[in-house]
Amino acid sequence: MILGGGVEERPLPTFEEIRLRTPGGKVPTALAAFARDDARERALHTYGRGFPDLVRGFSGDFLAAPDFVLFPRDEDDVTLAMKVCEDEGIALVPFGGGTSVVGGVEHAPDARRRATLDLGLLSGVHEIDRASLAARIGAGMRGPAIDAALGEHGLTLRHFPQSYEHSTLGGWIATRAGGHFATLYTHIDDLVESVRMITPRGPLETRRLPASGAGPSPERFVLGSEGTMGIITEAWMRVRPVPSHRASASVCFPSWDDAVASVRELAQSGLYPTNARLLDAREALIHEVATDGSCVLLLGFESHDHALEPWMSRALAITAERGGVVSSGPTYVAAGARTHEVDRASAEAAWRQAFFDAPYLQSALVAMGLVVDTFETACTWSAFPTLHAAVVRAVKTALKEACGGGLVSCRFTHVYPDGPAPYYTFMGAGRPGEQIRQWSLVKQAACGALIEHGATITHHHAVGRVHREGWHRERPPLFGKVLEAAKRELDPAGILNPGVLL
Ligand SMILES: Cc1cc2nc3c(=O)[nH]c(=O)nc-3n(C[C@H](O)[C@H](O)[C@H](O)COP(=O)(O)OP(=O)(O)OC[C@H]3O[C@@H](n4cnc5c(N)ncnc54)[C@H](O)[C@@H]3O)c2cc1C
Repeated sequence: MILGGGVEERPLPTFEEIRLRTPGGKVPTALAAFARDDARERALHTYGRGFPDLVRGFSGDFLAAPDFVLFPRDEDDVTLAMKVCEDEGIALVPFGGGTSVVGGVEHAPDARRRATLDLGLLSGVHEIDRASLAARIGAGMRGPAIDAALGEHGLTLRHFPQSYEHSTLGGWIATRAGGHFATLYTHIDDLVESVRMITPRGPLETRRLPASGAGPSPERFVLGSEGTMGIITEAWMRVRPVPSHRASASVCFPSWDDAVASVRELAQSGLYPTNARLLDAREALIHEVATDGSCVLLLGFESHDHALEPWMSRALAITAERGGVVSSGPTYVAAGARTHEVDRASAEAAWRQAFFDAPYLQSALVAMGLVVDTFETACTWSAFPTLHAAVVRAVKTALKEACGGGLVSCRFTHVYPDGPAPYYTFMGAGRPGEQIRQWSLVKQAACGALIEHGATITHHHAVGRVHREGWHRERPPLFGKVLEAAKRELDPAGILNPGVLL
């Protein structure tokens, strides 16, 4: 009843029942050696994993499908694909793991012929520079494969977005993904040492440097380009030794305001915990971390070098000053233990499991007809109380209007000295055939509140099509013009991911 009623399991379509768009033309002969145009590949490359994608997929609607899918075997294939698509006016969408939640891999609904380019074969850890702690990695490689390959050398990229199992290095760089570090090195930006991108006007490769003050940064230009300026083929990434010391604890707070103040103090203490997730009472309940109405702070430190007791002790002293009560831990894992062998019974372990299971749960709930999605942002600490109140109010009002009621919850995924990155989940009952319209009402209300109150339209979910309007309100207008000029220079025919970002 709390969701407004009407929740029921609905049958999924069989593959034979799905509806695919009629292709706008055949595969160009020059690309045939690495192209597929069978219904399965076209369907698999139609959408990302956003709410409207799941709803359309579950209803058998694959009418946005590409005409064919390219699987380049090397950079020559990428260059050839760009040339042929440019010559023949074919729109070309780069596809990593296809986990975009913002319409980033979906073709624009225009009359152009459509190709999608899957980076899956451009994979592998090609080179390791042990002295500099850096590795050259293919853009199509997915999270677990990267860590398995680096793990053989005692190294890790240590970038764990929630979509880690399915997303790729190239996708992370193209979208400025946010990983699992709650402080300091959170965005992939911090881990890119140099990057190589093939554009319709040739390759753009940046120099391997630990840092540089030489003018505007070319890496920063590629980061977040979302497949609109070129196709990232590989990057030198900063890696680190696999951590051997870990400390974790969870702290309960009866009051949300005290919990927020405490996390701010922690973020400004210079301790930089690797994990500092604050869950509101509803999030704590959903993730089975606390059932008594408390807000819970999941706290963690890790190092490959030193014991962590002093850091954890000081962090717990800071949280105690605001009434935080340790509810589990602190647990310390000493050198020699493997990262994933840490205390499976702890609140942190429960959270970690629920964190990676959540996407599967969302799919199941969408299949049952619910309107359920997440959105995230970042703002200054001083702006947060007003922003939070406005967002919750806007989303609740929209849920009432669209779904007859529903739930909204909040957690902090990352915290910075100058502000948090709040992450919201909303849920309401859907009506058959109306789920996307219902979702759209709530999503628009959320985006409107974020922009109106000075927050960013996204902290790590990218812009794509879904956030384009909000991002255009957020970015300086003159910066938009500069980007458009760069696009004209690199991709004059406008074949790359039309409608995304720009
Ligand atoms: C359940 C779930 C949880 C998520 N959690 C997180 C999270 O914790 N943190 C986070 O940051 N994001 C998260 N996301 C969003 C998504 O996973 C990220 O945006 C991710 O970086 C996309 O990677 P991908 O390989 O799947 O890229 P895709 O979805 O395939 O592509 C994303 C965009 O990048 C472009 N692109 C992909 N590869 C390349 C390339 N090699 N060169 C140029 N352009 C390219 C595409 O054209 C598209 O515009 C989540 C998504 C889901 C479904």
